[in-house]
Amino acid sequence: MGKGPLRIGLSAAVMHPDPQRLAFKGRRLFYMEEGMFQWLMAAGAITYLLPPPSGPVTAAGLLDGLDGLVLSGGVDVSPASYGETPLKPEWAGDRARDVYETHLVQAALALEKPVLGICRGHQLLNVALGGTLFQDIRTQVPLSLHHRIFDIYEGNHHELQIEPGTALARLYGTTASRVNSVHHQAVKEVAAGLVVEARSPADGLVEAVRLVAKNDPYAVGVQWHPEFQDPGDKTLLDAAPLLADFLAAAERRRR
Ligand code: MN
Repeated sequence: MGKGPLRIGLSAAVMHPDPQRLAFKGRRLFYMEEGMFQWLMAAGAITYLLPPPSGPVTAAGLLDGLDGLVLSGGVDVSPASYGETPLKPEWAGDRARDVYETHLVQAALALEKPVLGICRGHQLLNVALGGTLFQDIRTQVPLSLHHRIFDIYEGNHHELQIEPGTALARLYGTTASRVNSVHHQAVKEVAAGLVVEARSPADGLVEAVRLVAKNDPYAVGVQWHPEFQDPGDKTLLDAAPLLADFLAAAERRRR
């Protein structure tokens, strides 16, 4: 210890140029929902919103002085990022953001920095490692739950089945819980090296993954939004152990 707070880099959401937007008309913005900052800072970590690598600054350069990477939520991953074409134009996702975040994931893993992917970040982790996604859960997974309901947003909850024997099961000491659900896509083919740690029991969809490899990496993805949860809501899986596990991994690896 004695090294000060952990420094955690966050991948940004992207607001692409909009000629109708009054502020920053026609400019590209990189932004973050404040619950993410608050969740990490409540645990004592300092957050840094990461820009896309530019000029002589590489993704590795951005991450070099940081202790971990969180891949944030947001819009769909582009099917082009996993070798498919969009089944509908509105499912085209954000290929530019995929490229930016894939560079961050690759750099973080090369530097052995812990990675935590949340919602889109969980999906992006799977895609960056070679997996694929359902472009639209409701049409591609018959009889699936509604994993996103716009009107209630993070108030949409479903059951979670944690796979027995996984690190996530050991972390929580339980295999049955509940999580929020605000996603339009889901993991289809699981990337090589990723272990499924939790599913939605009603439809079998993947809700959590962890990278397992010889060099003992730390890369975890969760389909729910722990940063949206009220810490006092005992009906949902407690978000604190997940964050504490990530930060403990960052602490072990810091220089
Ligand atoms: Mn879900």
